[in-house]
Amino acid sequence: MMTYSAFHILWQGLTGNKGWTPVWREPEPKPAYDIVIVGGGGHGLATAYYLATEFGLTNVAVLEKGWLGSGNVGRNTTIIRSNYLLPGNQPFYELSMTLWEGLEQSFNYNAMVSQRGILNLYHSDAQRDAFARRGNAMRMTGAGGELLDQAALRRMAPYLDFDNARFPIKGALYQPRGGTVRHDAVAWGYARGADRRGVDLLQNCEVTGFDIAGGICTGVQTTRGPIKAKKIAVCAAGSSGRVMSLAGLRLPIESHVLQAFVSEGLKPVIPGVITFGAGHFYISQSDKGGLVFGGDIDGYNSYAQRGGLPVVEDVCEGGMAILPMLGRARLLRMWGGVMDMSMDGSPFIDKTDVDGLYFNGGWCYGGFKATPASGYCTAHLLARDEPHPVAAAYRLDRFRRGAPIDEKGAGAQANLH
Ligand SMILES: Cc1cc2nc3c(=O)[nH]c(=O)nc-3n(C[C@H](O)[C@H](O)[C@H](O)COP(=O)(O)OP(=O)(O)OC[C@H]3O[C@@H](n4cnc5c(N)ncnc54)[C@H](O)[C@@H]3O)c2cc1C
Repeated sequence: MMTYSAFHILWQGLTGNKGWTPVWREPEPKPAYDIVIVGGGGHGLATAYYLATEFGLTNVAVLEKGWLGSGNVGRNTTIIRSNYLLPGNQPFYELSMTLWEGLEQSFNYNAMVSQRGILNLYHSDAQRDAFARRGNAMRMTGAGGELLDQAALRRMAPYLDFDNARFPIKGALYQPRGGTVRHDAVAWGYARGADRRGVDLLQNCEVTGFDIAGGICTGVQTTRGPIKAKKIAVCAAGSSGRVMSLAGLRLPIESHVLQAFVSEGLKPVIPGVITFGAGHFYISQSDKGGLVFGGDIDGYNSYAQRGGLPVVEDVCEGGMAILPMLGRARLLRMWGGVMDMSMDGSPFIDKTDVDGLYFNGGWCYGGFKATPASGYCTAHLLARDEPHPVAAAYRLDRFRRGAPIDEKGAGAQANLH
């Protein structure tokens, strides 16, 4: 497989672009693998990539029911950040940020990692104090963070509606290392990196059942035939509940729709990412100029990849409260993805009670930024059969043990996280 470089682009340009080869193979399924990963989204592909690169395990297949990247990895609003508070989360997301920073060099693919900074706005003294605490937790893990007062924020983002009567903006918690990454390039880069090391990427291969006998899982049934495996990891994001029910397991997860919106292309106006602190709204600007924004999940459970109008109204109201200029932009497109909302808003990377069956999920609407660390830690769990230290809190039994990781302090209700 070819290595991408500036020289290669120049050479192809001069020779009619006839030498590009497919980015990955289209192999036929083998009857058995050491490890099978269910789900060819960001987390499944990253797991396969790190199994091969970090743990030398290449007799691996990724089974994807549609095409690679057809799920949430290609549907999200591309924000990355590591501005977490709790010890169970912050080191994990900081590992992810560190991996993002070296990602393009490591898999030799341009994922457009763009660390333009993230501003979390605060609107009251109490919220400022909570953000100061969060910022201190971030600084302790090396994530960096700065508490901006209103004057400093005005210099950085003068177009915000600071004097909004209902939600005046008093300042922001700023993480300069936050930003955006081109989401589908992440799927393609990990896929290419895994494929070139021998991993089989099997598209149009839906898992329809698990072979479980005596509490041990030894393979899967798929639309392309049965496949045996010593270990099986489910990384099916919004479909987690449906897929794990095929193995007879119930999860502390609900599926909800999350919508995304993109405006027409505009001249550069928003340099980084901005989030509203008094409602659910976040916005950035893509390299093509579109304002990319979103807000809350639709409140009802659903597996549909489209949402309802009340949330459209809510998101637009949130945007108008901090950025009145948004009302002048025309909406170009919108879509939905299915979120695997856990009851405390934090994810799972764990073995299940069935021997040989592993689970990665519960990423809620923040799993894109977690992709590198999630893949790395899931690969670690599969290879070593013990959790990676930064993912040690992501156990499936944490609710039974009374050890939820309630980052938002919203309690055990998925649609409040
Ligand atoms: C609108 C929107 C905005 C978001 N914004 C952000 C953001 O800004 N920042 C952030 O960090 N996160 C964001 N997220 C969340 C993030 O996208 C997800 O948490 C993350 O992508 C989930 O992991 P994944 O990439 O592996 O999922 P997916 O890409 O959904 O991968 C799961 C795969 O499993 C496959 N699958 C399902 N069932 C089967 C089966 N039976 N057999 C085989 N394959 C199967 C699916 O087809 C799918 O391809 C957003 C999500 C949405 C929808």
